[in-house]
Amino acid sequence: MTRFKPKRLLLLLLVPMLVFSMLTVSASAEEPDSSIEGIESTDELPETETEEETHTHTDADDDTHSSESDGSGAVNEQVKAAGAATCTHSMTVTNWITNCRWEQYCVYCGAFISSGIVHGPYTHGNWQYYSTTKHMRSYTCIFGDSETYYQTEDHTVTKQYSPFNATQHSVSRYCSACNSFIGSPTYEDHIDSNGDGICDGCGYEMAYFSVTVPASLMLTVSEWGEVYAANSAAIVNNSSAAVAVTDIIVSSENGWALVPYSRNMASDKVDAGLIGFAVNGASTTQNASSESLLLPGTWTIDRASSLPLTYDAVVSATSRVIRSEQVLTVVFVLEWA
Ligand SMILES: [Zn+2]
Ligand SMILES: [Zn+2]
Ligand SMILES: [Zn+2]
Ligand SMILES: [Zn+2]
Repeated sequence: MTRFKPKRLLLLLLVPMLVFSMLTVSASAEEPDSSIEGIESTDELPETETEEETHTHTDADDDTHSSESDGSGAVNEQVKAAGAATCTHSMTVTNWITNCRWEQYCVYCGAFISSGIVHGPYTHGNWQYYSTTKHMRSYTCIFGDSETYYQTEDHTVTKQYSPFNATQHSVSRYCSACNSFIGSPTYEDHIDSNGDGICDGCGYEMAYFSVTVPASLMLTVSEWGEVYAANSAAIVNNSSAAVAVTDIIVSSENGWALVPYSRNMASDKVDAGLIGFAVNGASTTQNASSESLLLPGTWTIDRASSLPLTYDAVVSATSRVIRSEQVLTVVFVLEWA
């Protein structure tokens, strides 16, 4: 935009300079200093021309001289040509043909010296997808006389994550400059490095399984063989969705033997080491070292809920006091409800 001002100035300068060049076509080569006088006296133009012709005539050959009478235009050309033969083109004028193209002429003989094109600044089109590595845009001189050029540049790639399914998200390479996705998306597992249940990449709310079961189920056996269970045990569901107890596997430990919970221990020997177990209505039914309990109904635990465990045991009589002893291992199998 700012280029308009200097150009106007140039054109204004050009007018006197062109007049000046006409006035001093041939004389200047020998006497450059006298050209300044020539500018001042525009009125003397015809006389000066006469002088020029005379002046030229002395330098030029006879053919040039004879053609002077043909016409003033032709004479001028001849004069210029004759002058160019000896002109050192010591001063030039630049003429802007368009806003961007310039031509340079000798001030003294009018000879064409050189030309060129200066484009810019440019107006640019929007970046558009060009290849998997580059985008492209067009640009043209703001002065409007250039052709349309094209340039390419590397994409500025960022990764964009989108949820794909419960376990994976898609990873797309995206260039914001040309507003394009590059190539095909790839797929990878959700990432949750901070354990908040939200995928670090795509923000997907991941299903996370977190269930707390009691570390132990305490039974207290009195010296008369009565069994007392703690009543605070519970399975707590901290998962992102409901879970369910699908199996309970009870195994006897440390020389104890599993028996049906319904067994009447009255006739068993003291220190026989028999134990029957029941929890929430699921009870041992066999004489075995391990048993998978048949669960009555469904044992669903909603999200952020807990399942209280009501348990009990029958134990054969002992001759010693049982203080702290592991008699059973109870495994709760939990799955998504
Ligand atoms: Zn010249
Ligand atoms: Zn231009
Ligand atoms: Zn791009
Ligand atoms: Zn994800």
